[in-house]
Amino acid sequence: MDKPVLRVGLIGSGFMGKAHVFGYATAEKVFDLPARIELHTVADITDDAAARAAHAFGFANATSDWRAMVANPEIDVVNITSPNALHKEMALAAIAAGKHVYCEKPLAPTAADALEMTEAAERAGVKTQVGFNYLCNPMLKLAREMIEAGELGEIRGYRGLHAEDYMADASGCYTFRHDPAGGGALADIGSHALATAEFLLGPISRVMGDCVTMIPQRPDGYGGKRDVEVDDVGRAFLRFANGATGSIEGNWIATGRKMQHDFEVYGTKGALCFSQERFNELHFFSTADAPGRQGFRRIEAAPTHAPYGNFCVAAGHQIGFNDLKAVEVAGYVNAIHGGADEPFNFRKGLGIQTLVERIQQSSREERWLDV
Ligand code: NAD
Repeated sequence: MDKPVLRVGLIGSGFMGKAHVFGYATAEKVFDLPARIELHTVADITDDAAARAAHAFGFANATSDWRAMVANPEIDVVNITSPNALHKEMALAAIAAGKHVYCEKPLAPTAADALEMTEAAERAGVKTQVGFNYLCNPMLKLAREMIEAGELGEIRGYRGLHAEDYMADASGCYTFRHDPAGGGALADIGSHALATAEFLLGPISRVMGDCVTMIPQRPDGYGGKRDVEVDDVGRAFLRFANGATGSIEGNWIATGRKMQHDFEVYGTKGALCFSQERFNELHFFSTADAPGRQGFRRIEAAPTHAPYGNFCVAAGHQIGFNDLKAVEVAGYVNAIHGGADEPFNFRKGLGIQTLVERIQQSSREERWLDV
C-alpha cells in the first residue's frame, strides 16, 4: 500500500535546520515510517541563503518569505529552526494555516507565549513537537527504565548540567541567544538539563534559582557595544515531586566544555552517571556488588537498547548527535501519521518554559518558589 506523503517546510537553514534535514533523511532509512518524506520548501532570510540551502539539503523550493511558505496548502508540517524570538509568530501562523509544527527549543520567549502557542495548537488539533533531542538517546531511556524498575532503590538525589563554552570569549558578538526575548544560558541549554531531569525523575515541584550575567557587554558587530541582560550561567536547586533533591546548571561560559550535558542519579541501592560527551555509555553503580568489587560499571549502547539496533547491528559502535534527531523525527512522524503520542509536544515544552521562568524569577527574588 502506498504511504501518505508528509511535505516538509523548513524555516531556518543553520545548525539546527541542517540537523532536522539529517533527521528526516536518516529516519526514513532506519525506521519503517508511516509516511514518505518530501522536502518541499526551505525558507531563510534572503533568497540566496534559501536557494543555497535548497540545493545543499535537497528541497524542491526556496523562499525568503516564510509567511508565504507557511500559507502554502501543499505543506503539511512546518519546522521552525530560526532564532528563539521568532518561534511564536511563526508557529502561530503555521497553526492558523492548519500545519503540524515542529519547533526548536526554547519554545518561546515567555511561558505566556508558550501557553498561547500550546492552546492554539490544541484547538486546531495539529501535532506539535519541541526539539529536546537529547531525550531520544537510548541510554537515557535505559536510565529511566532502570530508575522506574527500582534498580537504584529509592531515589534521593539528582545532579544535572548542560555546560558548553561557546560564549566564553567576551569578544564574541551579541547574537540572538543574548536577546532577552528567549535568550540566556538557562533557556538555551539549561532547558535541556531541566528536560532530562524531569524525563528521569518526574516533575520538579520547587526551585531556587541563581542566574548571573558574567559578561555584561558584547560587541554589536558594527564597531559598538551592546548590553547583555540575560544570564551566562543559570543554576537551580530543585525539589522533585517524588521527594528527591537535586540541582541543574545551564552554563555557556564553561571554558573547555563542548557538550557537558551530564547527570548523576543517586538511590538507596545504586547510582547512575552519564555524560553527553560519551553518550553511548551509561555508568551504573550497585550496592549489591561485593565489597572490594564495587565501582561504576560501563554499559555500552547496543542493539538491546532500542532504537540503537535500527542504526547499527553491532554493540559499542556508537550513534551520533544527528541520529538523536532522526529518533525524534521518527517519533513525531509516527504521531502525525501512526497514531502515536507526540514525543515532546508544545504542552511539555510549555512545562520546561515555565520552569525556566520560575528559576529566573526565583533568582531575582532570592527565594524558593513552587512550580
Ligand atoms: P543558526 O543561527 O545556525 O540558524 C538560524 C537560521 O534561521 C539561519 O539560517 C538564519 O538565517 C535563519 N533566519 C533568521 N531569521 C529568519 C527569518 N526571519 N526567516 C527565515 N529564516 C531566518 O541558529 P541555530 O543554532 O540553528 O538555532 C536555531 C534554533 O535551534 C534556536 O531556537 C536554538 O535554540 C535551537 N537549537 C537547538 C538545538 C538542539 O539541540 N535542539 C541545538 C542548537 C540550536
